[in-house]
Amino acid sequence: LGRLYGPLTAMSNVQVDVMTALVSFERVLEVLDLEPTVSEKPDATDLRAAVAAHGATLELDHVGFRYPSADEVSLASLESVATLSRDPVADTLRDITFQVPAGAMVALVGPSGAGKTTISQLVTRMYDPTRGTVRIAGQDLRDVTAASLRDTVGVVSQEAHLFHDTIAGNLRFARPDATDDDIEQALRGAHVWNLVASLPEGIETVVGDRGYRLSGGERQRLAIARLLLKAPDVVVLDEATAHLDSESEAAVQAALDEALVGRTSLVIAHRLSTVRQADLIVVVDAGQVVETGTHAELLARGGLYADLYRTQFAPAAVA
Ligand code: ATP
Repeated sequence: LGRLYGPLTAMSNVQVDVMTALVSFERVLEVLDLEPTVSEKPDATDLRAAVAAHGATLELDHVGFRYPSADEVSLASLESVATLSRDPVADTLRDITFQVPAGAMVALVGPSGAGKTTISQLVTRMYDPTRGTVRIAGQDLRDVTAASLRDTVGVVSQEAHLFHDTIAGNLRFARPDATDDDIEQALRGAHVWNLVASLPEGIETVVGDRGYRLSGGERQRLAIARLLLKAPDVVVLDEATAHLDSESEAAVQAALDEALVGRTSLVIAHRLSTVRQADLIVVVDAGQVVETGTHAELLARGGLYADLYRTQFAPAAVA
């Protein structure tokens, strides 16, 4: 056993390294909005034309999804390596149907593990559904070009990832041709311009792991500025659960309120103010939609949402 110990320890260290590398790789993909597990059809169409003609409606139609198991995917798919140890047979999404009209906001709520993040990954086409269809402007996402989907859908995730680059450089990932004026406008819209303007090097200040240290709330507002620059018709937002100080929280909220105006949005909601504002709340449990309605309707119903409200949303608002 002693002789095995060394190699085994070495192997588990390798695994840790690989996992760390995968996590970083995933983050890069997230920021660049690349799709690692899906491919583009040769006759794929431009989603922007459909959005211009029909408006940016979002629709999930009897969607089912199962994460690929280890033996279903080639080792080339890095995403699958990270999931080798997970249950390969369970369907994460079993039957998800809901619509978001153009310009409306739908809040997704549900217990941990219900499938909310998975739903958001189908809307950005990180994965294709195993059953059913995801449509934007009436187009099946499998039929549109990756570039037009990337232009149409913007993502703000819980953790705003910044590259070791200048603030301007980080924002230009969203729009390479953005002028300094465009960047200032986006930073103003995201309620972070005053901070950036107060730095000695302004938008040329280097941020990221080894650069100027920004707080969680400031990083989120830079991510929102990135979204404003990109100006997508559809926004997928994973609201932060991490506690921000109340000043930062108010600034992030103001920035988001502005960023979502006129856009179709799907929000994984953790805040009472969001669920109250939502045009529709979709309650997900174990991969299925169990309730839909407004905050008032769902509270009156006394079901899962009412429970979640008592345990998650109301206490957080008081804290
Ligand atoms: P939370 O509120 O905790 O973030 P969630 O509602 O967003 O949860 P998901 O992250 O969508 O839930 O996860 C739904 C289920 O899918 C969980 O059982 C989870 O373990 C599983 N799952 C998530 N990602 C993967 C993956 N890459 N491979 C395999 N299973 C996964």
